Amino acid sequence: MYTLEELKQITHKCRRCRLCRERNNVVFGEGNPEAVIMFIGEGPGYNEDVMGRPFVGAAGKLLTKAIEGIGFKREEIYIANIVKCRPPNNRNPREDEINACIPYLRWQVKIIRPKIIVCLGAVSARSIIDKNFSITRERGIWIERKGYFIMPTFHPAALLRDVKKKRPFWEDMKKVREKYYEIISD
Ligand code: URA
Repeated sequence: MYTLEELKQITHKCRRCRLCRERNNVVFGEGNPEAVIMFIGEGPGYNEDVMGRPFVGAAGKLLTKAIEGIGFKREEIYIANIVKCRPPNNRNPREDEINACIPYLRWQVKIIRPKIIVCLGAVSARSIIDKNFSITRERGIWIERKGYFIMPTFHPAALLRDVKKKRPFWEDMKKVREKYYEIISD
């Protein structure tokens, strides 16, 4: 079993897919290594690639606000992505890129052992829950798998494009807060 730091060092040398060629930084993920809640996005964008940190651009600011909105500090939770290197022009990661990268995320989850996993957007939900998952039709409902409570919801970038998604996203975030208190009071 690796430590989180060892795993991070391994990903920093990764050349398992084409995304390694154009990256400036591997975006491993960040936050509390003992987090109860883990948020999983799609992949680094421009700002994340430059900074080597997840969710630091416009969508990231919104995510941070949402986390604080349900009463947590960003440092208390853990944030990662399905792929750790930026797809060119922010295109969706391809299936072979996801397959190459997702073992790292699985390791990360095994080490951190969160109780709650929030899938942000379709790429995240399809990679983690089911390849045919529809975020529009099936978000907001808890899925229990292997002892994890998984909440699929919209990606914060989608809220920036369509304000109508803000309310359902907020409802989902409140469910995350409720579940957190349910779990820690057990
Ligand atoms: N979008 C994502 O899915 N992940 C990030 O880290 C930033 C934006």
